[in-house]
Amino acid sequence: MPSFDEPQTPFKVLILGGSYAGLAAALNLMDLCHGRRNRFSIDEADKGTGRKIPVQVTIVDPRDGYYHLIGQPLALSSQKFAETFWVKYADIPALQTPNIRCVQGSISSLDCGSKTATITTAKGTIHEPYDYLITCTGLRREYPSAPRSLTREKYLAETAENLANVRDASRGVVVIGGGAVGIEIAAELKMLHPDIAITLIHSRAALLSSESLPAEFAAKTLEVLRASNINTLLGARVTSISEEPYNETQKGTGNGNGKEYTLTLSTGSTLTTSHVINAVSRFTPTAPSFLPADVCDEQGYIRVQPTLEFPADSSIPNAGDHYAAGDVARWSGIKRAGAAMHQGHYAARNIHQKMMQRVYGTVPEFVSLAEVEPGMGLALGKTAVGYFPGMGLSEGEETRELFFQGDLGFMICYKWMQLGTPMPTE
Ligand SMILES: Cc1cc2nc3c(=O)[nH]c(=O)nc-3n(C[C@H](O)[C@H](O)[C@H](O)COP(=O)(O)OP(=O)(O)OC[C@H]3O[C@@H](n4cnc5c(N)ncnc54)[C@H](O)[C@@H]3O)c2cc1C
Repeated sequence: MPSFDEPQTPFKVLILGGSYAGLAAALNLMDLCHGRRNRFSIDEADKGTGRKIPVQVTIVDPRDGYYHLIGQPLALSSQKFAETFWVKYADIPALQTPNIRCVQGSISSLDCGSKTATITTAKGTIHEPYDYLITCTGLRREYPSAPRSLTREKYLAETAENLANVRDASRGVVVIGGGAVGIEIAAELKMLHPDIAITLIHSRAALLSSESLPAEFAAKTLEVLRASNINTLLGARVTSISEEPYNETQKGTGNGNGKEYTLTLSTGSTLTTSHVINAVSRFTPTAPSFLPADVCDEQGYIRVQPTLEFPADSSIPNAGDHYAAGDVARWSGIKRAGAAMHQGHYAARNIHQKMMQRVYGTVPEFVSLAEVEPGMGLALGKTAVGYFPGMGLSEGEETRELFFQGDLGFMICYKWMQLGTPMPTE
């Protein structure tokens, strides 16, 4: 039986993107290759195979750490939470094993025929051969939906600057965009800064207008926002924003940068405020541009098979050795971290089945994704609103506890992935 003590060439698995999907894939694969029950297994009878497979996982990410993206609305309101939500890869106990290497960099080219990636890092170029590749690069989201920075230090400077502007906002804060991100930002700001006037502006007649969710979900959300004293303007598009310098004779009206802003709305009215957060959602998939175009759909999502493999009908060589998981993959349902972790887990299991076949001659049993109906949990300060098929609409502290607990789900994800637990020693 092969073991880690034997001089075997380990399988090389390259993971692009070290967030929910990428870390779930890396850590479940590590469990499986050590013959253990994998951490996301919910089968009580599962004891693992007991059979080891040498593996070397490389995670490439332009960031220097894992970022809890779900927490971004809270990170914009609290430096304490911002500090918690970005954890450097070097500080994640589960990753501190010789079988996992984290590289801060980005892929500049991929040769899927020879299975070699070219990675650009600050220290130079790396040519990385791989047996299996998992693309977990998510969506390209603009600030404030996601951080701008690639290092924890710069990210904390970014959140501190936003917070200073919020604290000094004597004429209030305006959040533009009544999608999930804008709503959560407005709600977290109001909860942590109750004395500051918060206005949420949305161009459509109803909130969450781009989500395929029941109208009652948006209506309940609006009810909660208004009950929390968030001034919510619907059917009003911001047509222009003018920036005025700090007016010395009106000391205290501007923000920390000495500016105030006048917004003109499509309704004809104007609004003056100290700070504007533009949360109109703008995102595009991050599928590496050097992949053949026929791997992706017309919007740029990778057309994965239910096994998470690249599409068999694409022109890419070795399609079956290339996987995608998380937001970058085209699948049904609203893009969610839970789905990203699940997909990373399934990609790991299917790759492990292929390794088992090659090393032990077993017959692979692949897992396939099921279709997902739209559902969402929305944190609204001290409460939350949820809608999931089968559960229906829910609202209240229990809903908040279920989906987010007290830290917008940071510990739920951290514990589920077991990031704080070192890998068991042999
Ligand atoms: C503000 C906000 C609130 C949200 N709230 C919720 C919620 O309450 N519940 C929920 O389930 N979901 C929520 N989501 C959605 C959830 O965050 C995403 O579905 C989830 O982050 C997807 O995980 P992922 O691993 O696929 O991608 P991401 O988390 O986006 O991670 C992608 C990773 O890939 C890296 N990367 C990017 N390009 C490259 C490249 N070329 N090479 C290598 N690495 C690369 C990035 O740096 C990043 O680390 C929210 C999203 C936002 C923006």
